[in-house]
Amino acid sequence: MILFGWKTKPQVKGATKGKCFACKKLVQHAIVQVTHWFTLYFIPIIPYKKQLFVVCHNCGAKTELKDDAKKMMIQKLSDLDAQTETTSKK
Ligand SMILES: [Zn+2]
Repeated sequence: MILFGWKTKPQVKGATKGKCFACKKLVQHAIVQVTHWFTLYFIPIIPYKKQLFVVCHNCGAKTELKDDAKKMMIQKLSDLDAQTETTSKK
């Protein structure tokens, strides 16, 4: 018998400050990437879907970023990574 299934793995990728659409407060938001995995015998094999969410630290409201907003956020995150690398070398 082949055991297969699906699994989701959330990962915090960074943080951003902005106004929450739900609580209307200017607070930190966590950027969370959720990867959906196809598993075989409980081992994640293939990532078949990735979602990017912005989660409010104040009320926990979750917004999924799509298309352009997602691309912009990924670009912003890679810029942050580049900055971190530069600062850590000094
Ligand atoms: Zn909020």
